[in-house]
Amino acid sequence: MSYCRAYPEELGLDVYVLRLGHRPGRDKRITTHVVLVARAFGARGIYIANVVDESIKKSIEKVVQRWGGKYFTLVMGVDPMKIVKEFKKDGGCVVHLTMYGLPVDDVINSIRERCRKILVIVGAEKVERIYYELADYNISIGNQPHSEVSALALFLDRLWNGVELKMCFKDAKYYIVPSVRGKVVKMVDRGSSA
Ligand code: SAM
Repeated sequence: MSYCRAYPEELGLDVYVLRLGHRPGRDKRITTHVVLVARAFGARGIYIANVVDESIKKSIEKVVQRWGGKYFTLVMGVDPMKIVKEFKKDGGCVVHLTMYGLPVDDVINSIRERCRKILVIVGAEKVERIYYELADYNISIGNQPHSEVSALALFLDRLWNGVELKMCFKDAKYYIVPSVRGKVVKMVDRGSSA
């Protein structure tokens, strides 16, 4: 598919996201956006700590069905500490996004060089102290409070140097032809080499 300039599997690093503190009802929209950013910006999957919220699953399934990314895993109701410990045991780096951490631009090169796979932790409200301690990197995306959605998007963009914005999915049914005005959506023709 020549309209694609990158595929998730070509990004070269396996990234997973761990979403802490989701409150069903209240955080439904924002957690859905965290999941959408994770998929669209090149993560392999996301874990939602402690709770199961079927509405999030439905939203992401709809997107994957049209735009691809069946490999993307959404696992809900996980024990977050177990995920962090397993990840570290397996040689992965744990990155916690927090306004109190080190500036992303100061550490991103070392992360790229050092880490074979990454677990990115984002919170909702207050994140427990233990995560600051277990994280290999506590990273800020600026030192102002904003949002887990923007923090995750900017971290992944810095990690991939913007390549993820040209990414598409091999199993997509549709793709977009960028246009000055209007919406141009085409169906993927798997019978041709285009
Ligand atoms: N005061 C909170 C804190 O401890 O970072 C802000 C909570 S904020 C509503 C929810 C999540 O967004 C945080 O847990 C963090 O993952 C992310 N976040 C917000 N601002 C950030 C920043 N400037 N840098 C990195 N992550 C940020």
